[in-house]
Amino acid sequence: MTSPETLQVLNRVFGYDSFRDGQQEIIDHVTAGGDALVLMPTGGGKSLCYQIPALVRDGVGVVISPLIALMQDQVDALRALGVRAGFLNSTQDPDERRMVEAEFLAGELDLLYLAPERLKVDATVRLLDRGTVSLFAIDEAHCVSQWGHDFRPDYLALSGLHERWPEVPRIALTATATKATHAEIASRLKLEDAKHFVASFDRPNIQYRIVPKNEPRKQLLDLLRTEHNGDAGIVYCLSRRSVEETAEFLVRNGIEALPYHAGLDARTRTEHQARFLREEGLVVVATIAFGMGIDKPDVRFVAHLDLPKSVEGYYQETGRAGRDGLPSTAWLAYGLADVVQQRKLIDSSEGDAAHRRKLGAHLDAMLALCETVDCRRVQLLAYFGQSGEPCGNCDTCLSPPESWDGTVAAQKLLSTVVRLRRERRQKFGAGQLIDILLGRRTPKVIQHDHDSLSVFGVGDDLSEPEWRGVVRQLLAKGLLAVEGDYGTLVTTEASDEVLFRGRKVLLRREPKKQAGARTAKAR
Ligand code: ADP
Ligand code: ZN
Repeated sequence: MTSPETLQVLNRVFGYDSFRDGQQEIIDHVTAGGDALVLMPTGGGKSLCYQIPALVRDGVGVVISPLIALMQDQVDALRALGVRAGFLNSTQDPDERRMVEAEFLAGELDLLYLAPERLKVDATVRLLDRGTVSLFAIDEAHCVSQWGHDFRPDYLALSGLHERWPEVPRIALTATATKATHAEIASRLKLEDAKHFVASFDRPNIQYRIVPKNEPRKQLLDLLRTEHNGDAGIVYCLSRRSVEETAEFLVRNGIEALPYHAGLDARTRTEHQARFLREEGLVVVATIAFGMGIDKPDVRFVAHLDLPKSVEGYYQETGRAGRDGLPSTAWLAYGLADVVQQRKLIDSSEGDAAHRRKLGAHLDAMLALCETVDCRRVQLLAYFGQSGEPCGNCDTCLSPPESWDGTVAAQKLLSTVVRLRRERRQKFGAGQLIDILLGRRTPKVIQHDHDSLSVFGVGDDLSEPEWRGVVRQLLAKGLLAVEGDYGTLVTTEASDEVLFRGRKVLLRREPKKQAGARTAKAR
């Protein structure tokens, strides 16, 4: 039963008339002292789920969050509503910290935000012992998952909360969790017996579109000019350099754009973030360092110029679009070079083989999403263990890609890979392979005598972009793999099924025109 007090807090403190989907059940459960694990998409309204119980229950609600840079803003926003909030993290000097600690002990706080590493400090634990904690809220709970894409070792210490304070209810929240991550959060945080609340991950107002990458900046500019003129949006790039260059390119073309990446000094970053939040119609070009916890309702588009490393990351980043529920675009341009580059990053990444396997699996899932012939939304939701119907609001629904029987093309390509592999000392990437298939006598082809191979020129029924599409899709299907520094293509065990056991390969033909966009002239 919802207490009248809960409704009062919702109206008087936060100024809302009603709860959003799921909020009320969660708030009632936690207010009554129950543990909860909450999976709710970005913008779903997770914060209220612990803020209201913290205000209604006796004591101070302790919120554990990795977003140190945002704590000041979050606390300021709460104080503006009359909520007594404070935070403790490494950015404060000892005096500031002591003041917050005194407020906590005097019972003058409703909410205390803590960086996770604070809990490893004995003094913090003793501090919490001396005050009254009404609940623990563990925000961004997926950070405890080693299988997930955003693991933070400090989160592992949170498994001890329950032992130390068995009476205090805990609520863990995340906007991203596959079935496996969900289970891992529950077990690591000892929340198996907690009530699990899983909201739908669908964001129906976001239109998902994934296009082949040709001239990415021009394609982006075209998208902005034709569909998002004057709109606020975020453009994600992989590298700092590409962030800088893309921002400059947009500015040169009359679009107000600001760069954001970890290489900029703190003041510039804060300023750019503040301007993005405050002003209308600004575009931020950023690495993924930007956006966590940013609550700007009217972000009309999120564009990726490089392939995200995982579906979880993609979902979180695109989820920053359209929190106000109005139509928004999630647009991603990706190409073969992305795949090669990401594989290289994985191969050269620190960590053991298991870690690299994990990264590889994340990338594979992302590729499968890019190359699917089915509804993007169905595929995305399926990744998070939820089912759905074809949505009518993604590129594959709006202009269904034709599929074609690519078995023969795949066989030609794979047998070329096998032949090149026999030249053990040499490593060749997709470019050389395609030149051979197309029968091009380039200097490199002649140098290696590749025009004498039996497969030379057997692929001239397809164009170069088509062959690139074939390579990409075979990679996405695990029928081909990339190895080593030079993006060498190699066959996999599954390749044999195509080469020798008659396995059929259905491929996606790229639609000539992208859904909703008039990007044809950009290509
Ligand atoms: P999340 O943490 O799940 O991404 P937030 O808690 O930041 O979401 O909430 C997203 C936005 O929705 C915020 O602007 C918040 O003020 C607003 N919001 C949350 N709950 C309600 C509600 N019951 N009614 C109206 N707006 C709400
Ligand atoms: Zn769809």
